[in-house]
Amino acid sequence: MSTEDRGDFHERTVGELRVRIDRTLCVGFGDCVTEAPAAFVLDDTGTAVFVELETTEREQLLRACDACPVDAITVWNTDGIQIVPPLPACEQVP
Ligand code: SF4
Repeated sequence: MSTEDRGDFHERTVGELRVRIDRTLCVGFGDCVTEAPAAFVLDDTGTAVFVELETTEREQLLRACDACPVDAITVWNTDGIQIVPPLPACEQVP
């Protein structure tokens, strides 16, 4: 797994997935935490941060990312295709 946190963008690569939290968009509803409590938690400011992505099954992780009501979590695969939130092929920017 690789880790990269730059300011309000926190990013992890786990398996074939690259997952990014845009903390400027997060409004702290906690849907991601509810879906995958081992992967996400809310920090002191009520904003999502990563915990341990490796311990969460791929499908559960994708469900948690997709649950974000404000699309603060983005997931790409190893081909650079954005899979959460899903984008039509014509809008993909690998
Ligand atoms: S679901 Fe989205 S808005 Fe809610 S805590 Fe997670 S990242 Fe933030």
